[in-house]
Amino acid sequence: MSPYKRDWHAGIATPRGEGSYSSPEVGHPSGSRGYDVDSANSQNSSSTMNGITGTVSPTFPLPISIYVVKIASRCNLNCDYCYMYNLGDGTWKNQPKRMSNVTITKLINKINNHITRHNQNNIVIIFHGGEPLLAGRECIRFFVTEMRQGIINDCSIAFRLQTNGVLLTPEMIDFLRGLEIGIGISLDGPKYVHDRSRRDHAGNGSHDRVVSGIKNAMAVNDRAFFNGVLSVIDVQTDPIEMFAYFRSLGVGSVDFLLPDITWDTAPASMLVQDRAIYADWLIKMFDTWLDEGDATFSIRLFEILMNRILGGDAKIDALGGGTNNVVVVETDGSLEPVDVLKACGEGITKTNVNVENNEIDDIFESELVRRYVGGAEFLCEKCSYCEVKGVCGGGYLPHRFRSENGFDNESVYCRDLEKLIRHIKARLVAELQKR
Ligand code: SF4
Repeated sequence: MSPYKRDWHAGIATPRGEGSYSSPEVGHPSGSRGYDVDSANSQNSSSTMNGITGTVSPTFPLPISIYVVKIASRCNLNCDYCYMYNLGDGTWKNQPKRMSNVTITKLINKINNHITRHNQNNIVIIFHGGEPLLAGRECIRFFVTEMRQGIINDCSIAFRLQTNGVLLTPEMIDFLRGLEIGIGISLDGPKYVHDRSRRDHAGNGSHDRVVSGIKNAMAVNDRAFFNGVLSVIDVQTDPIEMFAYFRSLGVGSVDFLLPDITWDTAPASMLVQDRAIYADWLIKMFDTWLDEGDATFSIRLFEILMNRILGGDAKIDALGGGTNNVVVVETDGSLEPVDVLKACGEGITKTNVNVENNEIDDIFESELVRRYVGGAEFLCEKCSYCEVKGVCGGGYLPHRFRSENGFDNESVYCRDLEKLIRHIKARLVAELQKR
């Protein structure tokens, strides 16, 4: 099939879906990331095939339309790369194990105040953890029921839940579908790949349990409920083997995530001049995917890059650019910027803003929140002159961190991002010339 049978603009320039806000693709492992952000509320501009011609500074406070709600702060897995527990931030230990009904009620009240203030008509709630299913059915049912009953202004709410998949029994799936909560599941690949990193607290791999959960989710044949998986890239694997594995699994989409490293934690082997090992891996994956040409199988990172290269403004916080109207709510009601920033150091996401005492807009008192939400406004000098900045956006904010100078850097994946973007652009140009 011609790659042009793919609809590169559909579904990804708009709020979510794993493509639209009605069924957002969410995050990462036991935390999660890759939040699609609301283009309707974004305030940046981008131009055609090569980059941004100018950006408009956002005016704070911006409306928040995605709430990543940590209803559980613990996890039944202990993945070695998890930014929640294993990359240097120990603040989870001070959090209640699950969000209380009192905190849920206060959060809903504050969200309603925010909807009124910003005249919003749609928001997304992403249940998150840790492993959110550890919060228990009563907690989840209470949250959804109270929120649907209490929401004001006829604002529509989409509920999503990011899970490691271990607890996805058929009964749990019935429960979630009954509440109209869509799900995303984390799976890194075949058993020998997945189980390298994604093990439980006893050291046992989780692959077989996760695949069982995926099969249970696929059995209901409802793509609005479940369509695809999130997968952290392991460059030790063969991308073509990985592609074949996910295709054989039968899922409708895969979102490949770059590991959460900073300039402080990047392995020396990765920083060798002229090496771009993630680009090399992703380019093989991209070419395999494009050449296969099955428009029903989505790889979100590639679709968003193609959209931007062709002049679209598809939004995702895992690349820079635009604005990111996302806030994280911890189990004690604390409001924070994106949770992956925990990989940058102990307590870095803490803001002293809480639904107990504050309104949602108070989160913008935090400089880090303004930098994360403001996106394109905060590029380092190198990025501001870069030819591909309109597509790359400077990369994901946590990947720019260096303890010497904070976030005033290009992405630690800069060479990879530039090489990948240039390759995809060259392929698109070649395909267009064939037409
Ligand atoms: S991170 Fe690198 S590729 Fe991306 S905009 Fe900055 S300089 Fe360009």
